[in-house]
Amino acid sequence: MQNQLRIYNSLTRKKELFEPLNPPFVGMYVCGPTVYNDVHLGNLRTFLSFDIIYRYLKHLGYKVRYVRNITDVGHLESDADEGEDKIGKRAKLENLEPMEVVQKYANSFHRVTAEFNLLDPDIEPSAIAHIQEQIKMVGTLLEKGVAYEVNGSVYFDVKKYNEHEKYGILSGRKLEELMAGSRDLEGQEEKRSIVDFALWKKASPSHIMRWESPWSEGFPGWHLECSVMSTKYLGETFDIHGGGMDLKFPHHECEIAQSVGAYGKQPVRYWIHTNMLTVNGQKMSKSLGNSFLPQELFTGSHELLSEPYSPMTVRFFMLQSHYSSTLDFSDEALKAAKKGYKKMINGLVLAKKLQYKPEEGVEINAKAVEQTDRIIENIYRALNDDFNTAQAIAQLFNLLKKINSLSTGNLKFAEIGEETFSKVTSTYITIVEDILGLIEEKPAEVEGFIDIIIDLYKEAKQARDYDKVDELRAKLKKYGVVLKDMKDSIGWAYEE
Ligand code: AMP
Ligand code: ZN
Repeated sequence: MQNQLRIYNSLTRKKELFEPLNPPFVGMYVCGPTVYNDVHLGNLRTFLSFDIIYRYLKHLGYKVRYVRNITDVGHLESDADEGEDKIGKRAKLENLEPMEVVQKYANSFHRVTAEFNLLDPDIEPSAIAHIQEQIKMVGTLLEKGVAYEVNGSVYFDVKKYNEHEKYGILSGRKLEELMAGSRDLEGQEEKRSIVDFALWKKASPSHIMRWESPWSEGFPGWHLECSVMSTKYLGETFDIHGGGMDLKFPHHECEIAQSVGAYGKQPVRYWIHTNMLTVNGQKMSKSLGNSFLPQELFTGSHELLSEPYSPMTVRFFMLQSHYSSTLDFSDEALKAAKKGYKKMINGLVLAKKLQYKPEEGVEINAKAVEQTDRIIENIYRALNDDFNTAQAIAQLFNLLKKINSLSTGNLKFAEIGEETFSKVTSTYITIVEDILGLIEEKPAEVEGFIDIIIDLYKEAKQARDYDKVDELRAKLKKYGVVLKDMKDSIGWAYEE
């Protein structure tokens, strides 16, 4: 299966057979979150898409080193951004130390990824911990003649770079058009050209996040941390680099220019960009004020939601579309996803319970075997086709039909034989749990269930059915719950 995986490469704009540089090792770098506010569900969609890619590559037997950074320098948000100190600003607002801000939002991000069952990356480097390496890379770019210093700040010289290389290969933007399209350098007079971007910025007196460098006390530019950390942990050229579509330009374009400028090599073989989660067709974003926070979803407190939705419902909802399509977030879509998720999990519970029963006198039905084999093949075909989870889910529901037929007896076990039977159940379980990362969410209202058992216990007591009374006591005890007979009622407690 390994050599059948095809990935859409944003750099070549083609679907290509995945051939890692150094198999079975795969290096994958994903731009991580900025940690001066909470992640919203749009951000989550991107991280979830890479979670699937990571899981599937591992499933195929690759040894993946997955690096996802933490952007904690409070970086510039665009090339026109004059360096507002995002973390410093948030620290003042919340009356916290800047490092408390970083820790608070990194913790919150980790809680969210755990709730949605995202696997942890293998390395999670932070930009702050790599300032020295960033300073070194700025030095290299100056030495190579593709950067210049002005008043303690250093900029990448895009025109100079473009004399020998091609700026814009990833986004398809043309330098002449970029230059013609931008009006003036207002507020950015230091730059030789509007297309140049900051590698190092001299900090204004009020800027809190600042470090010593040969040029000034300042902070690194927006794009530098990812070039530095990906090179440090994955090498000058590595297999996969990803992020949301909105990072393609300028962030990833500039990363390419920095790495080619410093090391003379294309840094990445396969660029993967995920599409946006939208609300009423508009990109979900903090600045547009249309973002949903995970917490608003779990409590159902958002005005556009009619009820709370669980993390696995949302995970299922997101996986029902391919990562390269936009996905619109709505209450109706979530309602439908809630049903779909439950159906899939009922299948999971059944697949785990179902035992093969040999039936006398039933012959192998070649057509049934072929049909099930084809469904399994189609699941893998979908995943091998640029991680198409939408199609894989559709095929999984076909496999579920077979599992249901086996459980009701419409399809006899012996018709497909033991080998195909175990392939059916193991494929279903593996795809749902290991690759899609959908797990069974146990109902949170455990106490409600204990009350139901207490009612049965009371009934048994009244009927003086002491065997039943003992049995119910013993069953609850097995789960660490002890019943307490009180004067007028029955209480319970966790066994200590
Ligand atoms: P940020 O913390 O803003 O740098 O965003 C983290 C990741 O989320 C980046 O890869 C963004 O491209 C991605 N992202 C931001 N908004 C959305 C959205 N509405 N849908 C999908 N991904 C998004
Ligand atoms: Zn990045």
